[in-house]
This record gives sequence, structure tokens and C-alpha cells, in this order.
Amino acid sequence: MSSQAGARAAAGVRLAAGRAAGWAELAEAARGCTACPELAATRTQVVVGSAPAGARLLVVGEAPGAQEDATGEPFVGRSGQLLDRLLAEAGLPREQVAVLNTLKCRPPGNRVPTRGETATCRGWTERQVELLDPALVVTLGLSATAWWLGRTTLSAVRGQVHQAAGRRVLPTYHPSAAIRFGPRGEPLRLLREDLATAVRLVS
Ligand code: URA
Repeated sequence: MSSQAGARAAAGVRLAAGRAAGWAELAEAARGCTACPELAATRTQVVVGSAPAGARLLVVGEAPGAQEDATGEPFVGRSGQLLDRLLAEAGLPREQVAVLNTLKCRPPGNRVPTRGETATCRGWTERQVELLDPALVVTLGLSATAWWLGRTTLSAVRGQVHQAAGRRVLPTYHPSAAIRFGPRGEPLRLLREDLATAVRLVS
């Protein structure tokens, strides 16, 4: 997509998202999104995210994978199962946590989202955050963290609460890194620690 077409697509998304008065309306509009032609042609469905009533904690990931694309729910694959377990250990059931991705459609073959795709999808996510109004946002992995904090490294910012776009943001490892480095790895230890901190902060 040319940069002009990209800017037009992003503006269209912002307009549609801004018109949504509530979560259900936003979800309906997002499900029909065709702003990224490749993603719209290859996805099974848009994975809007989950928003339990009264959720104070919002967890943000990068993009849906195969299982999320198939079910329409965020974080239901291996990463999601680990996330659920660690949240439960910390004392907050996943059913009480809002979860979404910065990109709502699965990139083909799980490739990394392009900057253009993430920029185009931004309007949906910004409106989602506005509607959810969470007390704390936990970002999983560098991509979701950079969405909030801009260019950075995870090691420079993880485990601390940052102020960004009027929100409190706590970056941590993505569960997939915790899985990759195994049960004795630092990513799992730090992800567990950071989620426990997050739960404490919203309790
Ligand atoms: N990884 C993500 O970042 N999001 C999902 O929904 C699943 C895996």
C-alpha cells in the first residue's frame, strides 16, 4: 500500500472507531474492517479482543495467531494458556481481565506485523482503550510496548510503571518468550513477577 493509501486507511479506521459509542458497536464495526487489504483477504475473522465489564487491568499483545484467528478470541493458544495460568496464580482470573492486540487480524504465516498495518489499526486500539478506561495496561513483548512507549528495548523499560498517553503502562515479556526460554528461563520468572505486580496494583 502506498503511504497515501495507508494514511487514508488509518483515517478511515479512526473515523469509524470514533463513531462507536460502546464496545459492542466498536466490535461490530471492527469485524467488517478491510483497511489492510492483505490481512482482510487472508484472515478468518477479526480478533477484536475481550472486554469483561468492570475490568481494571488491560493486557495488550501483538497480533492474533492461528488459534486466535480460528476462534475469534485473543490469547487462546499456548501463550494464552500460560497467561491465564500466571494471572490465576497472581489472584486475578482471566475472565476479569480485558485482553486485546495492537493488530486485530492475523498476519499470514504469523509474520511480524508491518509498521503500516499497526499504524492503520491504531484507531481501533485507541478507541478500545478509551472505552475500557483501565487502571493499568500491561504490554506483552516489545511490539506492544513500543506501541505505547515508542522506540525502546524491553530490558530498558520492563517491570516499571510508565505514564503514556494518559495511562499507566507496565511492560513485560511476551508469554511466547517465556515458553521459548523454558521453565527455568528469566522471561518466565520476570513475566510471573510483573503480572503479580500488575494484579497488586489494580486490586
Ligand atoms: N500472541 C499475541 O500477541 N496475541 C495473541 O492473541 C496470541 C498470541
